Amino acid sequence: MNWANLSPLPAEPQEAPIPPNFTWQEVDTIFLDMDGTLLDKYYDDFFWEQYVPEVYAFRNSLLPDQAREQLLAVYRSVENTLQWTDLDYWSERLDLDITALKREVSHLVDVHPHVVDFFRHMQEKDKKLYLVTNAHPKTLQVKMEKVRIEHWFEQLICSQEVGAAKEQPEFWQRLQHLLPYDRTRTLFADDTEKVLHSAAAYGIKHLIHVAKPSSRLLPRHSFHFPSILNFRELMF
Ligand SMILES: [Mg+2]
Repeated sequence: MNWANLSPLPAEPQEAPIPPNFTWQEVDTIFLDMDGTLLDKYYDDFFWEQYVPEVYAFRNSLLPDQAREQLLAVYRSVENTLQWTDLDYWSERLDLDITALKREVSHLVDVHPHVVDFFRHMQEKDKKLYLVTNAHPKTLQVKMEKVRIEHWFEQLICSQEVGAAKEQPEFWQRLQHLLPYDRTRTLFADDTEKVLHSAAAYGIKHLIHVAKPSSRLLPRHSFHFPSILNFRELMF
């Protein structure tokens, strides 16, 4: 008797993290998110949740907690849009030089463990790597000045030039025009489930969720997508 036929797989979210289940022979293009996926998201969290509110409080004679509360509400109002990542928008809206402030704390920009080993491993396998980020070109510049990983990529793509955020399904369609890719032979890794859902809706076949975006926070696995703690888990 074939017992497998008697216990169908659960259709809905799994109870345990899902391990990656593919071979590199099935993939030739790799899209990698930047913040939280390759780089420690602690920098971004610290910058927006602590540093900007402190500077904003000082400039506007507010208490730091007041400023933080006000700013978090403003951030939420533009979440998942291109405005959220637009440094010019924030500089104007908050009347602060956000790019300059980013540089002031850029010592916190750091690459996650095993990322560079993964790049090397992929290069040996002849895979094409692309950085695909919602980050603003000025943020990208501040970060690349610090971590110098840009030479591993065929191209660095900012949502700004695509004209949509990765959370918006049209992003993936428009990306096809900039960079023709075969969605059935593409792997995409990101730490934001909403972004992975949008890539899945477009038909990108191999999706990987990064469960530990910040070195200072506990991991949170996805129960919808194969989920990894670091890129060492994809070195096979
Ligand atoms: Mg990210």
